[in-house]
Formats: sequence, structure tokens, C-alpha cells
Amino acid sequence: MSRIAFIGMGNMGLPMAVNLVKAGHEVAGFDMSREIMGRAGEKGIRAMSDVGAAVQGAEFVLTMLPAGEHVRSVWLGDGGILASLDGRPLLIDCSTIDVETSREVAARAAESGLDMLDAPVSGGVGGAEAGTLTFMVGGSDGAFERGREILSAMGKAVVHAGGSGNGQAAKICNNMILGISMLAVSEAFVLAEKLGLDADRLFEISSQSSGQCWSMTSYCPVPGPVPSSPANRDYRAGFTAAMMLKDLKLAQQAAQAVDSATPLGAEACQLYRIFARKENAGLDFSGIIKMIRGM
Ligand code: NAD
Repeated sequence: MSRIAFIGMGNMGLPMAVNLVKAGHEVAGFDMSREIMGRAGEKGIRAMSDVGAAVQGAEFVLTMLPAGEHVRSVWLGDGGILASLDGRPLLIDCSTIDVETSREVAARAAESGLDMLDAPVSGGVGGAEAGTLTFMVGGSDGAFERGREILSAMGKAVVHAGGSGNGQAAKICNNMILGISMLAVSEAFVLAEKLGLDADRLFEISSQSSGQCWSMTSYCPVPGPVPSSPANRDYRAGFTAAMMLKDLKLAQQAAQAVDSATPLGAEACQLYRIFARKENAGLDFSGIIKMIRGM
């Protein structure tokens, strides 16, 4: 049993923290939302008054925050984690953020002699609830071994991607593939429709041919071929278009920083920017097929 501080208990963080409680750990949590703090208390998490109170005596400190600016302020700000720690816990940020911020926060932690992992996840809210997330982890070998058991309590796969920031690098590279492949599959199914080729037949053929990919076989953007895909429930998310846009922007930011050519990533980012306007931001990202059909 370990003492764990968990900061940021939104759609992902709360079920992750609950899984740590279920695994027998003592979890002290903090979120800015009072409503979330109430729900956390009902689920066996000790609701703390602020970040500083939550991290006192912790052996592990985890965060699951919206974006880089929140991570910077919660970890590095006045009254933030690094300013409030009393021991030498292992630090783990599970948020999806830019590689640069991730490496900077880890470097600042190292200046205080603290180990830090970046451990963004794949698997969405369903995976967080079921404890079946995939963690992509950046940090030293020693820190990874120290954190493995805690992460395993919340996920089915925990993969060491290399040094600091490499977890974030893996996450944005993976999601850039996902955004591009969803667009490719959507274009192909719309073209098939217009050519008079039935969606089920295209699926039957392509899912056993060289065009097969996860966006088609697990998450098909047309209703029918994959009963569990959001296309069968009016594109209710799932993984929202706004989240996909966020990750594609992070990929573009990273590509620019290292001067790597990502012409399709750039195009995908632009198309999701158009699609994820207000009314579509909360729709599943596979709903982009509707925009392509209308183009
Ligand atoms: P969310 O907005 O539901 O939760 C974030 C929580 O952080 C909120 O409850 C907010 O109140 C809290 N917060 C913000 N600033 C804070 C502060 N200063 N102190 C304490 N709490 C603070 O977001 P989410 O869907 O849980 O996503 C969290 C992260 O996980 C994001 O980086 C996202 O990209 C990533 N992610 C999300 C999904 C998904 O399907 N939702 C999937 C994979 C990765």
C-alpha cells in the first residue's frame, strides 16, 4: 500500500484515482472543481483543500490535467507541487501535453533531486474506468521501475518509451497516425458510396486487404460494419474532435521544433480545425466523415 497524491480528477483522473483506491492505495486528491471533490470523497479518495495539502507525505504524486499551461502552473507555480513537497516521492504526469513543457518540468524536478515520469495514456474514459489504459512512459530506467506497479493498477500495458518527454512523443506520434488514418478511411468510404459500392462490401474487402487499419477495423466511421464504433450512435464520443485537434496541434508544434516534415499531419490538423468548431467539438473524431461527405 502506498500513499498517493492525485491532482486533476476530471473525466480521466477520477476513475484512474478510483482504481488506485481499489488496488489498496491511500489516495489524497485535489481538483479545482468542488463538485468533483464531492464525488471523489464518496469513492474513498481523501479530498484535500489544495495541492500543497494533497502532496504532504506522498510517496507518489500523479497529475492528470488538461494542457501544458495547467501542468506548468500545478508543478512549477507558487504553492505548486515542487514548492510544497516534503519528501522525495516519484512524480508522474499523465496529462497529454507538449514535449517541451514535459521535459522542462522533469528537468526542474531533477534540480531538486526528484525523479519524474511523463506517462500519457491511450484508451479514453472507458479505459480509465476499466483500468485498461496503455501508458507511454518517458523517464529514467530507475524511475520507470519505481512507477510500474502504480501505473499497472490503472492500465493493461505500461511501455517504457525512453528518456523524459518520450512518453509525450509517443502519444502525439500515435495520435497523428490516428487522425490521418481516420481521414483516409473516411475519404475511401465516401468515395465508395459515390461509386455505388456498399460500405459493408468495402469493409469486408479492405479489412482483409492492404488498406486495413485500426480506424477501419475497430472504429469504422460509417454505421454498420463495427457495431461498437461511435458511427452507430450518432458519433457520440468516444474520443472527441476537440481532443483530436489538441493532439494534432501538439504534433505540429513538435514537428516544427525539430524541423520534421509532416505534410499529412498538417493537413489533418487543418481539417480537424475546421471540423471541431463549436457544434462539433464534443462529437467523436470519426464524425469528420460527415464533413468530408459534404465537401
Ligand atoms: P478534464 O477537463 O475532464 O479533467 C481535467 C481536470 O483538471 C478538471 O477536473 C480540472 O478541474 C482539473 N484542473 C485543472 N487545473 C487544475 C488545477 N490547477 N488544480 C487542480 N485541478 C485542476 O480532462 P480529461 O478528459 O480528464 O483529460 C485529462 C488529460 O488526459 C488531458 O491532457 C487529455 O488530453 C488526456 N486524455 C484524455 C482522454 C479522454 O478521452 N478524455 C484520453 C487520453 C488522454
